Amino acid sequence: MPILPHADLLSKDKLEEVRDCPNCKGSNSEVLFTEKGYPTAECKNCKFIFLKLRLKEEHLGLIYDNQSYHSVSNSNYNRLIGEKRLRLLPKMNKSARLHEDGAGSGAFLFAALSQNYNASGNDYGQDSIDKAKQQFNVIIKKGSLADSHLDDSELDVLVSFNLLCHLYNPWEYFDEVQRVLKKGGYLLLRTGNRQGFFKKFHQGKWGAPEHIYHYNLKTINDLLKPRGFKIQWVKPAFDSDFPYLFFNYSQNPNAYFRKAAGHICSLSIRLWNVLGLPKDDVFILAKRE
Ligand SMILES: [Zn+2]
Repeated sequence: MPILPHADLLSKDKLEEVRDCPNCKGSNSEVLFTEKGYPTAECKNCKFIFLKLRLKEEHLGLIYDNQSYHSVSNSNYNRLIGEKRLRLLPKMNKSARLHEDGAGSGAFLFAALSQNYNASGNDYGQDSIDKAKQQFNVIIKKGSLADSHLDDSELDVLVSFNLLCHLYNPWEYFDEVQRVLKKGGYLLLRTGNRQGFFKKFHQGKWGAPEHIYHYNLKTINDLLKPRGFKIQWVKPAFDSDFPYLFFNYSQNPNAYFRKAAGHICSLSIRLWNVLGLPKDDVFILAKRE
């Protein structure tokens, strides 16, 4: 598990306060809850959700340079997830140029390269780059999407899974996404969707301080639409742990019915997937028009 510093344990100079909504600059926001000393607020005007207190970007190493942050659980499971995620994409030529931002375990990249696509990826964490090389023999470039120095309109497809809520400047980020994707190209995202029921759900366990912004379909579309992206579909994420029925219990080594709880947990997730019911994480496919 990652080491997540409680805000009170950090010296004040490592933190910054966010007064106005980073999305619309509105000053009217409401604190929904506080997690590990970091208040999470929702803008009354545009519904953007953001940490009102956060680590300064230059101190992110406190989180991501941790050896255990990018833990690789099970390479076989990851491989299957990678293949399944690849199948979400529309039919493409084998010459299609794919790139994954935040390539993590390397499983998606491995799946894409195995299908002979012209695929590449980048990631921040040196340890995940090393593990991807070791487990899947894929080379991931260290750094951000911008550090990859892709050409204008180079890509047919850009994918990023679970990256959005970590970004300090998603506006600049989507400018870069727009620049590197050709017209008619696809963007596949996996992200949390804090909408309706899920805005109230699991509050206090939303991943502060590394998750600095939270999105719903409206706020994601506010980022995509002005940059010429049109959402093609939104699907509940098959690889989400929701519903977490007995999940915590099944993780407790001292729990008496731990195994049974684990089975109920995975059965409920499967049933949810088969029925296509809403989840707190979604896949979004958008097309650059
Ligand atoms: Zn706002």
